Amino acid sequence: MPVSDPEALLFGFRGDLLLTGHEDGRSVPPLSSVEELGLEIVFQQEIGTLRGRRCVAAEIGTDAEAPDGFVFRDLRGLWGGDEDFFRVAGRAKQIVAWNRTHQYCGRCGYRTEPGSEEFVKKCPNCGMTYYPRLSPAAIMLVHRGDELLLARSPHFPPGMYSALAGFVEPGESIEETVRREVGEEVGVEVGKVRYFGSQPWPFPNSLMIGFLAEWSSGEPEIGDPNEIEDAGWFGADAMPSMPPKVSIARAMIDAFLAGKGWAKPR
Ligand SMILES: [Zn+2]
Repeated sequence: MPVSDPEALLFGFRGDLLLTGHEDGRSVPPLSSVEELGLEIVFQQEIGTLRGRRCVAAEIGTDAEAPDGFVFRDLRGLWGGDEDFFRVAGRAKQIVAWNRTHQYCGRCGYRTEPGSEEFVKKCPNCGMTYYPRLSPAAIMLVHRGDELLLARSPHFPPGMYSALAGFVEPGESIEETVRREVGEEVGVEVGKVRYFGSQPWPFPNSLMIGFLAEWSSGEPEIGDPNEIEDAGWFGADAMPSMPPKVSIARAMIDAFLAGKGWAKPR
């Protein structure tokens, strides 16, 4: 793909915080300004493009101060704004974290080196290869006729309910994750499971994979109150407070209530 702007964008992280413009938080400096801004780059890697401009993920030294006009921000605060910017920033954050946490081989302890391909680190001693870590998770909206099974975690804002979710375990298909998690979290069995769409979630490295699941038996009963503190059936006329519009959970709920959208990947 041709690059329309020769000035690559710098997605620089100090820890998990992104260096962004002071005003809007949705701008980052060009890579060419690193010296001028007095930034010490510990690691950098090209990670793709944003609206035609090349993007570079970089780790900035932990004691760095934000230059004038810039601040270090948590990406969560940028969620819900410019979706493309958030995606690239999330990708950059994960590449930087992967590099930082794979400096040494987990098998033999040697220092790792960049591999011959993009996003690979290799151990020169024992040959182990390391790829960026991704943690797939299922997020599922259980329905019974026109009603939706929604639950709230004790960590949610007051009054908010959402779809159930859980991480895939080794050896498990994603459909099995859906059935197991629904059973464990609220003691309900589901029948047919249909794919809706997916959403990367870089905190720290999830991919949320969304499903609509048809209820088959059981009434909601809380499995672990530390995970789910309340769950119940909700109809279109009495919906609780819901997750933000940009979340896949909300996209599934809205699509269900509108009676459409299930065949179209997001
Ligand atoms: Zn090794």
